[in-house]
Amino acid sequence: MAYQILTHKLPTATLGTNRVITAHQFGLIDQNKKKIYLQAGLHADEWPGFLVLNELVKLLKQADEQQLIQGEIIVVPVANPIGLAQNFHGYIPGRFAFSDGGGNFNRNWPQLGEKIESIIKSEITADLPANVTLVKDALRTEVATLPENTELQGLKKTLLLMSIDADEVIDLHCSGEACMHAYVAQEFEQYFQPLLSRLNTQVALSELDTGAASFDESNVSVWRHLRQHYSHMIPWGARSLTLELRGENDISKEQAKLDANAIFDYLCEREIICQPTRVNVLNKVECFPLDAMDLVKAPSAGIVCYFKEIGESVEEGELIGEIVDPSGDLSNNTYPLISKANGILFARLQRRLVVYGESIAKIAGKEHLAHREIGHLFDD
Ligand SMILES: [Zn+2]
Repeated sequence: MAYQILTHKLPTATLGTNRVITAHQFGLIDQNKKKIYLQAGLHADEWPGFLVLNELVKLLKQADEQQLIQGEIIVVPVANPIGLAQNFHGYIPGRFAFSDGGGNFNRNWPQLGEKIESIIKSEITADLPANVTLVKDALRTEVATLPENTELQGLKKTLLLMSIDADEVIDLHCSGEACMHAYVAQEFEQYFQPLLSRLNTQVALSELDTGAASFDESNVSVWRHLRQHYSHMIPWGARSLTLELRGENDISKEQAKLDANAIFDYLCEREIICQPTRVNVLNKVECFPLDAMDLVKAPSAGIVCYFKEIGESVEEGELIGEIVDPSGDLSNNTYPLISKANGILFARLQRRLVVYGESIAKIAGKEHLAHREIGHLFDD
């Protein structure tokens, strides 16, 4: 049995504050065993994952007491206390930092592939497991040297120190209004099927390079870079994905228990928990290329009215809603929202008052869209 709560103190940014990140660590650190890292709430306005991981910790504690955990599992249910402090009279924006340049909390994470290659390239041998260990040792050392000159840098470094050497990283997010969906590296479409199907994922967006340098890409990009140069010598040492747990208000104890059970069952399937899986008949989750996802932009400011529901199929050229500008001339104040993709409307903005030009809906399609530029696939 080995369960402990780890508390990491962030650098104090303003007088009188003292933020901490709490992690639940299960199992034993053993480089020959699997390590899985899960976190929620990096976007601090996305809360379904808080409750899911709370339920998962309960299940893991039981498994730990029964000595069923083989390897190491780290769970960080509340990953971003900086964003959570953005409370304006009850409204918590939480997606963008107010300091350190004000960026999106899930962008511009360190991408360490080139640096690690320069450190380890002379030591690569024909021993594949030894090469994985070599890379992971270098990653731990490199992350330990990352700067910690601001509170946000401290947060990034803390989360990376716990996750950079994990075999799997699962980052929990949500959207405004959405069905269960996920962003997964193209190389792992098949690998993560057992997790995606257990969660009844309706849409998996597969990607090669989003250009976002998101948290989960910190892991993938290192190994992707190394494998471009040493594909026969270095196997995948880490796999990661971002789960979008439906809409921001799709939060209930019942749903959280179902999701936690699904993740727990997946951990059993990966044999990090020595217990038979409870569900064996699984549906295949369909993958859609991220560059074929239509990001529907608001053609005007105004009130948005949707004609299609989340999860519905839409066709290219189909009217999915409209925006009404109540300040304009009645004869010319309605603007259509037209789908550019054949696919599934899987997410949309929850707020009905929209700003001209902002992304208000997402449609997963199959064919590449000319206006979607690989390497620039997210706009915020
Ligand atoms: Zn998010």
